[in-house]
Amino acid sequence: VETVLAIARDITELKRVEDKLRELATTDALTGLANRRHFLETAERELARASRYGLSLSMLMLDADHFKAVNDNYGHDIGDVVLKLLASSCQTALREIDLFGRIGGEEFGVLLPESSPEAALAVAERLRIAVESASADTPQGPLTFSVSIGVASRRPDDAKVDDILKRADAALYLAKQKGRNRVEGGF
Ligand code: GH3
Ligand code: MG
Ligand code: MG
Repeated sequence: VETVLAIARDITELKRVEDKLRELATTDALTGLANRRHFLETAERELARASRYGLSLSMLMLDADHFKAVNDNYGHDIGDVVLKLLASSCQTALREIDLFGRIGGEEFGVLLPESSPEAALAVAERLRIAVESASADTPQGPLTFSVSIGVASRRPDDAKVDDILKRADAALYLAKQKGRNRVEGGF
């Protein structure tokens, strides 16, 4: 009995380690969001599923506005605090099935399965407002910040996630050009 219990404990411990390893491999350490690889792999799977069943699928690209100025004026540590706050503000405005990932430094992606262009634009606007409403405590007082967002949706001939992301990226670029803290669609 002792031996069986000991083995059971070992298995439980192995499962725990396995879960921890999986979490480390898929999560961005700073924000706790999906990391780039996990985000893109999941997006490819969702795109394949959407293509097979003719479902809608949308993606958002977010980029923090004037983020270099945040680092320059408040320091890199406050910059990190802002990125974490940005992540948590958006996360609470998303559904369970949406995937929020950190694609690069101050660049994020959102995967919206079964979401039309109209629905995706509405989500993007909700995220934009969630971010501009958040405020970070700093030694120099409260700090507010914003994001620009590009929105794109699956087209029938899209074979790769990159096809959608390119349009989202172009829309993001337009949002930046038009003055930042805004949402643009690139459908
Ligand atoms: P724009 O509105 O055009 O996006 O301006 P920007 O200043 O945000 O753009 P830019 O790409 O020039 O600057 C991005 C900055 O984000 C530069 C980089 O130091 C900072 N950054 C990237 N990753 C991190 C991070 O993990 N932590 C902190 N604190 N800063 C980061
Ligand atoms: Mg930026
Ligand atoms: Mg950037």
